[in-house]
Amino acid sequence: MNRRKFCRTAVAAGIAASYPVLGGCSRSEPPVATSADTSIRGISLDGAEIELEKAAIRELGDAMTGPVMLSGHPDYEGTRKIWNGMHDKRPALIAQCMNSDDVSNAVTFARERELLVAVRGGGHSWPGRSVCDDGLMIDLARMHDVRIDTENKRAHVGGGALLGHLDNASLEKGLVTTAGVVSHTGVGGFTLGGGFGRLNRKYGLAIDNVRSAEIVTADGQVRRISAEEDAELFWAIRGGGGNFGVVSSFEFQLYPFERKLLSGSIVWPIDQARDVLEFYGEWYLGLSDELYVGPTMATMPDGTSVILMEVVYNGDPAQGEKELAPLRALGTVMEDGIKMQDYTVMQTQEDAAFSHGVRSYAKNGMAKQITQELIDDMLDAFVPDPRLAFFTHTAGGAIKRVGETDTAFPHRNAETMLIVAGGWMDPEQDAEAMATARTWFAKLQPHTGGYYDNIEWEGDKSVAGNYGPNFARLATVKKRVDAGNLFRMNSNIKPA
Ligand SMILES: Cc1cc2nc3c(=O)[nH]c(=O)nc-3n(C[C@H](O)[C@H](O)[C@H](O)COP(=O)(O)OP(=O)(O)OC[C@H]3O[C@@H](n4cnc5c(N)ncnc54)[C@H](O)[C@@H]3O)c2cc1C
Repeated sequence: MNRRKFCRTAVAAGIAASYPVLGGCSRSEPPVATSADTSIRGISLDGAEIELEKAAIRELGDAMTGPVMLSGHPDYEGTRKIWNGMHDKRPALIAQCMNSDDVSNAVTFARERELLVAVRGGGHSWPGRSVCDDGLMIDLARMHDVRIDTENKRAHVGGGALLGHLDNASLEKGLVTTAGVVSHTGVGGFTLGGGFGRLNRKYGLAIDNVRSAEIVTADGQVRRISAEEDAELFWAIRGGGGNFGVVSSFEFQLYPFERKLLSGSIVWPIDQARDVLEFYGEWYLGLSDELYVGPTMATMPDGTSVILMEVVYNGDPAQGEKELAPLRALGTVMEDGIKMQDYTVMQTQEDAAFSHGVRSYAKNGMAKQITQELIDDMLDAFVPDPRLAFFTHTAGGAIKRVGETDTAFPHRNAETMLIVAGGWMDPEQDAEAMATARTWFAKLQPHTGGYYDNIEWEGDKSVAGNYGPNFARLATVKKRVDAGNLFRMNSNIKPA
């Protein structure tokens, strides 16, 4: 049983390649070869229409190793599409970067023209921040190399790598670090926003494992940052999102790891939800750092509603069996799929459910405790709709042992993330499904304090409040490295 099977009905939209209208724009295929116009339409940072000279675009294409694509390039249609099918936007041009020099050229091109910029890592932004109409998309998809340094237990990861690239390369060497629950999510956006995963109670968030990064700032400079080199900027990127530049590579701490572990899902019928949640509401307080477990309530395509827990025990299996025994003995279980299995089974089991092209909406909030009132509201709010589900992501453990202001990520004290998310394919359902999800989440919101920006559609609405004590410091760093607010397609921190 997959905890997100609700989404299975969603068939990924095919990415159809269309053929040149204006002509391609790469080194082998000169840009804009077939059009008589000398410029194309672009959009400035403040929304005004601007002209982009084709000669300048050609120059950018010549300076870059990777291709620069205009509408009509064979790869333009496939590249502009991001994961969430709701965002059907058409950039004026796409700079597909191969290295930090390419990124620097693309950033300089945009800054000199005050052209709107969207940076695409893995393309999984719920609100669609990695694509824009009429601006420049800086696409990092081909910068996905992962180099493992086994001696120092470090992973050097390209800014456009996916979580599966990171997991696979690390696991091959008997190592691991915190990565999220769907392997086709991008390392870039995931890490810059915090980075929750199934190992976070033991190893912390992804940002807690970043040891250094290479970043291209708005001035086009390629900077190496760490606790020793520009510590302020290094602090800001660990939770501050894509506000400060384009990260061309990350260096992560890795840990020795036994990849076969006790894991899987356990499922009960929804009529046992109260018993399961009330048990969990007490039990979670004593969880070991090795254990990742949390409730989900969902409805299958056939209309059957269930409550389930996904489990990963990152430690001695015998100890795990003992810790999990009370959970497994609870009520009448529909299915107990907890067994010894490879970590990648868990890390990829939701990939198909969250397939590319699905139309998706998500809201979340961070809860400091699971009270009886919250449990009552979880039960009361539940909507038996196969398009929508309620998830939790267990935090605490190592996440909580880092101070609130030690990194830019502000929600260290939360025990769990409460999420309502959904997926459907029919655009006609957008408004109604989103309204249902909003109503559902509104009943949970009073139990939360702030939200995890990475899993939030409306994250840009209360940026200052959500960063709390970290906001003023973030705005100061932003002013130093991006006073013109070139990188604004994010939950935007305005320069102080
Ligand atoms: C199916 C799915 C599963 C998810 N699971 C998890 C999970 O388990 N844990 C979790 O914590 N989150 C999870 N998320 C949320 C995820 O972390 C965010 O959506 C994140 O923004 C995705 O990063 P990306 O690079 O794929 O996104 P993109 O859409 O490419 O980018 C998102 C934002 O980050 C910026 N950005 C991306 N890469 C870079 C870079 N290299 N340098 C500078 N800016 C960059 C973009 O400009 C944009 O503002 C999930 C999301 C989805 C859709």
